[in-house]
Amino acid sequence: MSRSNLNTFSPQHASAATQQSVLPTFEKGSSVIVVGAGAFGSWTSLYLLREGFKVTLIDAWGPAHSRSSSGDETRVIRSTYGANELYFDLNVQALALWKENQRSFGQQLFHNTGVLWFCYEETTPLVDDSLPFAQKHRMEYQYLSPLELRKRFPLIYVDDLHHAYFDPYGGYLQARQSVQAVSTCFIKEGGDYIQSFVKPKAISSDKLCGVSLSNGNHLEADAYIFACGSWLGKVFPDVLGDVITCSKQEVYYFGVPSHESLAYDQLPVWVDVDGKDFYYGIPGNSNRGFKLGVDIRGEKFDPTSGDHILDPETLDKARRFITHRFPSLKHAPLIENRVCPYENSPDGNFIFDLLPATSNAFVLGGGSGHGFKHGPALGQMVAKILSGDQKVPTLFLLKNRIE
Ligand SMILES: Cc1cc2nc3c(=O)[nH]c(=O)nc-3n(C[C@H](O)[C@H](O)[C@H](O)COP(=O)(O)OP(=O)(O)OC[C@H]3O[C@@H](n4cnc5c(N)ncnc54)[C@H](O)[C@@H]3O)c2cc1C
Repeated sequence: MSRSNLNTFSPQHASAATQQSVLPTFEKGSSVIVVGAGAFGSWTSLYLLREGFKVTLIDAWGPAHSRSSSGDETRVIRSTYGANELYFDLNVQALALWKENQRSFGQQLFHNTGVLWFCYEETTPLVDDSLPFAQKHRMEYQYLSPLELRKRFPLIYVDDLHHAYFDPYGGYLQARQSVQAVSTCFIKEGGDYIQSFVKPKAISSDKLCGVSLSNGNHLEADAYIFACGSWLGKVFPDVLGDVITCSKQEVYYFGVPSHESLAYDQLPVWVDVDGKDFYYGIPGNSNRGFKLGVDIRGEKFDPTSGDHILDPETLDKARRFITHRFPSLKHAPLIENRVCPYENSPDGNFIFDLLPATSNAFVLGGGSGHGFKHGPALGQMVAKILSGDQKVPTLFLLKNRIE
């Protein structure tokens, strides 16, 4: 198991982070097929439609199904990305779009609980390096000493922490519910949705010639976007087989003591910056229990045929952690759990680029454990790139991963 696990919280960035590149553009009114109705594909389809494209969204098992990365109860939304300003800024845009869209969907999808970062050392670059960006956006974090932490959050054991930072602007998103709301809205606004497994057809004269569906149909469009999450490596094994890797990630829902259930519900999202396992927690979860996630990359996983069964050793370790950090959960039973695939790119950065040797087929993915929150901002960005109103961050190009 790899322990160099910073990619979720701070994807690699370089001087290229601010560079932008041009991709082919398409007339408004052109037809686009989007394959994959997870967070990336659903939001992208909705924004393409709003940008004036004719969009067909296709998924093998349905929006946010349980094998997909988007199919859990909740996801963290946080701006903190170490020194990586690109994602801080993308998150600021995403946050505004989540608020705007949830108003139009008539459903609360964003819960502004704040995000609490447990810091073990005086210097914690993952959080500290984001502070100037927070200041720039007038989204300052609050520094909390152990004394202040103990007073404000008595459920948390703080003696091994140097301090914490509280980001009052973050929180969590309803995951499955929001992807399904986006897909419903996409259909309501005039998009076509098909449930079917897709195979890309041949490439001829730099054009993908269409897609075959498991229902026997063949479809053609002016442009194609493959937002297939963990399956991208299977759909394009020659190009992406080694680029997108799928790891097995576990989340647990623990039962809290009855007299403390409200206090646990009222905790913010928290992240334990221990530099090893990177445990994190999310309140809410439709009363499923107190959620604990393990961010360290799990074993290699097949998103189609992998059994969603917990690894006893990983669970045992997680229990020890939860008992340590939240002492009143010492005897907490595990009441629900979930296995979810991470769709990892090699450096943790998202991918949006043309499929090599084509001028009409794009790959969108590499959420790498942190993509969910960015869904609306990324979808809007892709729609604007296709219509020629925006360029793509060079960091998202495939050439950075396959050369
Ligand atoms: C345990 C866990 C915790 C996470 N926590 C966070 C978090 O706190 N915050 C955050 O922002 N992000 C988080 N993430 C990451 C985030 O959930 C993902 O980056 C995001 O959901 C990826 O969305 P996607 O649309 O790319 O992939 P998916 O949701 O997997 O969607 C891909 C879709 O493509 C479809 N598909 C694939 N191949 C085909 C085909 N050939 N034909 C038809 N359909 C096909 C699949 O059926 C699937 O529905 C977490 C992920 C996991 C697993």
